[in-house]
Amino acid sequence: MGSILQIMEPKSPSMTEPVRSLLSLPASCQVALRRFLLPFLILIISFPDTFSQRYFQQEVNYNIEVSLDDERHMLIAYETIWYINNSPDSLRILYFHLWPNAYSNNNTPLARQLFQLQGKQKLFNDPQLRGYIDSLDFKINAQPVQWELLPDKPDICKIILNQPLFTGDSILITTPFRVKIPKGVTSRLGHVGQSYQITQWFPKPAVYDETGWHPISYLDQGEFYSEYGRFDVSITLPANYVVGATGELQTPGEQKWLEQLATRTVCKDETIYDEDDFPASSEQTKKLRFTAGNAHDFAWFADKRFHVRKGEVKLPHSGREVTTRVMFTGVQAKLWENALSYVNDAICRFSEWIGDYPYQSYTAVQSALSAGAGMEYPGITVVGIQDDAYSLEEVLAHEIAHNWFYAALGSNERRFPFMDEGLTSAYTARYMDERHPNKKLWEVYVKNRKLAKLLNIEKMPVQRIGELQWLMQARDNLEQPLDLPATCYTDLNYGVMLYDKAAIGFNYLRAYLGDSLFDASIQNYYHQWKFRHPQPKDLRNAFESHTEKELTWFFNGLLSTTKQLDYKMVRLKGQHLLVKNKGELPAPLVLQGVGRDSLHFEKWVDGFEGERWVEIPGGDYSEIVIDPNHITPELYRLNNNIRKSGAFPKANPVVPNFLFSVEDPGKHTINYIPAINWTRENKFMIGVALHNGFLLPKAFEYFAMPFYAFGNNHLAGYGKIYYNITPYDKFIRKATISLEGKQFGAPGNQNYQKAEAGLELFFRNRNINSPFTQMVFGNYITASNLSQIVSGQKAEYSSFIQMGYRLQKAGMVNPLKLVASYESGSSFKKTALDLNYKLSYYGTAGLEFRLYAGVMLKKDPEVPFYALSASGRSGREHYLYRGTYPDRFAIFPNTFWSRQMTLSEGGLVTPVNNRMGYSNHLISLSLTSSLPEKAGWIPVKPFINILLNDHGLSEGPDSPFFFEGGLKTGLWNLFEVYVPLVVSRNIQTINGSFKDRIRFIFSLDLFNPVKLKSR
Ligand SMILES: [Zn+2]
Repeated sequence: MGSILQIMEPKSPSMTEPVRSLLSLPASCQVALRRFLLPFLILIISFPDTFSQRYFQQEVNYNIEVSLDDERHMLIAYETIWYINNSPDSLRILYFHLWPNAYSNNNTPLARQLFQLQGKQKLFNDPQLRGYIDSLDFKINAQPVQWELLPDKPDICKIILNQPLFTGDSILITTPFRVKIPKGVTSRLGHVGQSYQITQWFPKPAVYDETGWHPISYLDQGEFYSEYGRFDVSITLPANYVVGATGELQTPGEQKWLEQLATRTVCKDETIYDEDDFPASSEQTKKLRFTAGNAHDFAWFADKRFHVRKGEVKLPHSGREVTTRVMFTGVQAKLWENALSYVNDAICRFSEWIGDYPYQSYTAVQSALSAGAGMEYPGITVVGIQDDAYSLEEVLAHEIAHNWFYAALGSNERRFPFMDEGLTSAYTARYMDERHPNKKLWEVYVKNRKLAKLLNIEKMPVQRIGELQWLMQARDNLEQPLDLPATCYTDLNYGVMLYDKAAIGFNYLRAYLGDSLFDASIQNYYHQWKFRHPQPKDLRNAFESHTEKELTWFFNGLLSTTKQLDYKMVRLKGQHLLVKNKGELPAPLVLQGVGRDSLHFEKWVDGFEGERWVEIPGGDYSEIVIDPNHITPELYRLNNNIRKSGAFPKANPVVPNFLFSVEDPGKHTINYIPAINWTRENKFMIGVALHNGFLLPKAFEYFAMPFYAFGNNHLAGYGKIYYNITPYDKFIRKATISLEGKQFGAPGNQNYQKAEAGLELFFRNRNINSPFTQMVFGNYITASNLSQIVSGQKAEYSSFIQMGYRLQKAGMVNPLKLVASYESGSSFKKTALDLNYKLSYYGTAGLEFRLYAGVMLKKDPEVPFYALSASGRSGREHYLYRGTYPDRFAIFPNTFWSRQMTLSEGGLVTPVNNRMGYSNHLISLSLTSSLPEKAGWIPVKPFINILLNDHGLSEGPDSPFFFEGGLKTGLWNLFEVYVPLVVSRNIQTINGSFKDRIRFIFSLDLFNPVKLKSR
């Protein structure tokens, strides 16, 4: 997706340009311009500030009369807009948002985004999911005007004004409109039964600011940018609906009724909360009027089942009283019992920190929401179903904080989402941290203490969740800068960067500046930009003018690059500590002297590159630690501590841990899992699986499984170590070097062995949002000669080289993988192309294609299985010893395990290799499909394999054309049984018996914790 569309109006000459360019103008022009220039210069002198910023903002005042038809789920409305042009430009057109049209067909920007992110294809073919706005008839100052929808963007229209709208002038725009409300499962606007979420619903002018027009299509990932003004909205609907809306309720009868409901809710018996059906709508209707000032949006929520609670907050600075309400249904009544106090406390605390809450009232409503945990609108919030009280409080705090950074500070959220979500998330974290300083992560995210213990996270504070999520992306070098437009983020990074990392970043800045300086800066920003459109530079100015600190590291480093932070202890000499910045970001670091359970000093040091000696205070501490409280986004923490004494002051203890662990700074954890195993030659084995953690990628990773085998009294097992290099901003995103070893028993009372060295280079995507990724790989393998083993000889070693290129398109919809490879041994050489493609039906269901073409560049006449194999290789044919084969050397079909195979070159399933399978050339096509429609969940997939090779060119049984079709079933990628039902005649002559065509794959790769992670 491209960046934000900015359509520039032909503007009147810019105010700065005439001054600069006047000297170069021809004389006649100078005379003509002099008339303008003189008053202009006076203007510059008298308003230097206004002039240098050129800041202006349009004013848009709304009057909307709307009625709800709750049988047809329609809104019938009439809108009057008073638009005031405060810009220095004459406007000839206006852009209007018609956002309900985002749901109108499968080619809207919303539909295209949902298709890309969630694979939701042909979404709006379902009439229930479809929504639209129609019956529009725009008039300006009562005169009809020409208007048109933008091509491919039916949710934006352009109105061509009959006369230009001059600077300082205003117009009255009117239109009737009708909205079909979609079923509320797609995005923010919708209804669930007769529960209504009326958001992004009315025709609304796009923002016109100093950079021009900002018409933006409605999207799920990506928020909004709107003009400020007054709203006067009258809602007519059946009398028994409870309505929560932006602004102040101006209808006395309704105020009274809400009071009554609120008292009733407080006294109400619990049982009443159980009833959850919709009561019939009243015959009578009522008309409710809401007004709001200094607002840039208006949302309302209506439900006949809402319970209401009402309270009041006195704001700390002005003493002004704010009315607060919560509205919720019986489904979550128990949870919402304390919601009002969460709301009141959060409004109070945020007001203290940032400045008083901007409006007169605040309402939180609970609803079945389809756009995240909650969604913010001015003075009102909608919150979806929550799991527990902590989560509810957190979501409420987050949405309330939006009243400052979204509602009052009207930044362009689509272009700079961090200005809203980032600051909001930072304040949410600060608030929750203050409210629940001792909450543990497992209590909220794991919920089971025993499991938390097993995972070694019992003591981890809940605040660590954001850091963990961020580290997963950061360590894999998949971060994106924080100042990008919303549409430029991957689905995952939209959350990880804008919420998690931005929150860490702003709270890091706060820790560095200290609360009072940080709060003063933000208060300065809030008061200066309240009800206006601040830009990132205005946020920066607010900090820099207030703190006199050099904050380039934050605004030009942490915010706008993916430079990483990794400080490392080098040496300690008395009171001098040598610290090295292994990362690229010269950001401040915090040092602490830690003794037995007590803190001796804390010192902030301004950021630097390379190494630096730091003076540290003396004292009775035993260890110095960089950022022990996880304030800074440190990439690796195992190098963050140094002890005052001892032979190895930087060494961390090695601690064994059962099962799994999430990284624990300050110690090397070796995780162990007792394991048993069996192969035909080794018999019963006992051993242990060892690894250094899961979840978080690490520079150095290992997985080893040594066994003692009772059958041959030998050692057996498997091990692999990885070293990952993730350079900053380079052509290569990640380089992985690996070493692998394997030994298991083989016939003839010997062991087979294999050692493999690998290199994988993952390229950086220039456009990270592109689903395509590229990598190259190379492997050097030395392994026991399999043909010697199967012919009963003592095996020597053979060596192989592999290299290749992989192009992959990941994602839910139509994923694709293309691998070009080359392999050689001492006696053969081969090359191949392997294309896998899935045509998605819906969700994960689809038709899988595999196209394979291979050529032997050199063939070994002695060892057939080095050539291209037509069908899946059994263990006896797998000269590289890939996979886990309990009975690797079994002869088909003597034992159960002899039916095990690995899908290989040709993709056939029926075992034909020995008789006519190996070839010099091979081309094949495999098709596998999920069962259609609702049967898609049944774990059976039909398949068809077609293959042509050069083995025998005669007609009849030796035909080079192979065909098989059948069914496969099982646990995908772990254990899959293939049953070929129909086969071509040549296969039939070799494998006449249907039973002898059934084979299976069994892969334990799934359980390798290192491989579990996305790569
Ligand atoms: Zn938010």
